[in-house]
Amino acid sequence: MIGVRAGSATDVGLVRTTNQDQLLVESPLFAVADGMGGAAAGEVASAVAIEGLRDAFDSAGEPTSQTLVDAAQAANRAVWEKAEAHAEMRGMGTTLVALALTSDGRLAAVNVGDSRLYRLHDGELQQVTADHNLVAEMVAEGRLSQEEAEVHPRRNIMTRALGVDPDVPVDLFALDAQPGDRYLLCSDGLPREVADALIESLLRRLADPQEVASELVDEAKRRGGSDNVTVVVVDVVDGDAAQTGVVKTDAGKDSAATTMIPAAAPDRVARQTETQQAEKPSSVKRRRNKPSRPLRARFITWRVGGFFVLLLAVAAAAAAGIGWYARGGYFVGLRGQQITIFQGRPGGLLWFQPTVARATTVTTSQVEPRHIPEVAAGQQEPTLTAASQYVDRLVAEKKA
Ligand code: MN
Repeated sequence: MIGVRAGSATDVGLVRTTNQDQLLVESPLFAVADGMGGAAAGEVASAVAIEGLRDAFDSAGEPTSQTLVDAAQAANRAVWEKAEAHAEMRGMGTTLVALALTSDGRLAAVNVGDSRLYRLHDGELQQVTADHNLVAEMVAEGRLSQEEAEVHPRRNIMTRALGVDPDVPVDLFALDAQPGDRYLLCSDGLPREVADALIESLLRRLADPQEVASELVDEAKRRGGSDNVTVVVVDVVDGDAAQTGVVKTDAGKDSAATTMIPAAAPDRVARQTETQQAEKPSSVKRRRNKPSRPLRARFITWRVGGFFVLLLAVAAAAAAGIGWYARGGYFVGLRGQQITIFQGRPGGLLWFQPTVARATTVTTSQVEPRHIPEVAAGQQEPTLTAASQYVDRLVAEKKA
């Protein structure tokens, strides 16, 4: 008998004002959705998707991988119809990643967008799903290196989302349910802040799925929390060890012998695509040229727009910082033969030119000649008082 134990956590993060992520923990079905769209539309999209997924999956009766794919399609249709019916929600969309224990004692997962499913198997973390993300696809096609991808300005652009078109290709993954394996469903707010190596070590270190879920969310917040962050941790256990959410199946110990896919080594995850919606790399490109483009374009523009707003904010902060530095100090310099105290940096910095803070009656003739070069170059002092004392010392030295 195979069972599951699950834990979950979600948080708005430290930057966003609303949490547009949604999660579902209703054994045998687990899901994460990351909504996006103006105003409250992102929250609506992810909520409608989760609800649509659960309702379709529940009403289908027997949980199978096909049931899960159909449920994802139903979720897509529900979000799309909602957007069609409400002008202010046009262009909203959501990611969806879902994992289900199926009646044959195995696991099925579906994915659309850039939320992720990871598996920890024999202590090693492997990303099961492939992000439907422009930059990730360029990496997969060998057109971009991983290093280039991490700093690419368009790395947030998704190529597929739920609710944007009436139909969407859904990636399906068939997995062996091996006791000891741990699955992690998460929105991009987690991997955006926490490196895979750290995710792996936390998943290994903490035994309790709820504890590790909370810790992963806390870690994302400690490292910036720039986005909503949501995680669902699902442990595959022997039926006897399952404390919550046990799903009884008859697959039992001989499941490995009867499954069509070999024991689940990370590199042997069967990645299938729904047959009715056969999706090949070329068909993804074709889809981008379909008449539905205006919707998709607006959807993409929203994320690009967000990126440029962030870029402007960073630039403004940098400019303010430079200004503070440029105007922050004083120096003793020359105006003609007059010793003068300036505010700013000698020679100026960018568009910040030094200004006269205090004129003195001291001229170069009242100063030891050996001090003239340093004054001419601009003798920097932290405060106006310190600069005045420096001038006093120059005069005193000459008199002495
Ligand atoms: Mn997100």
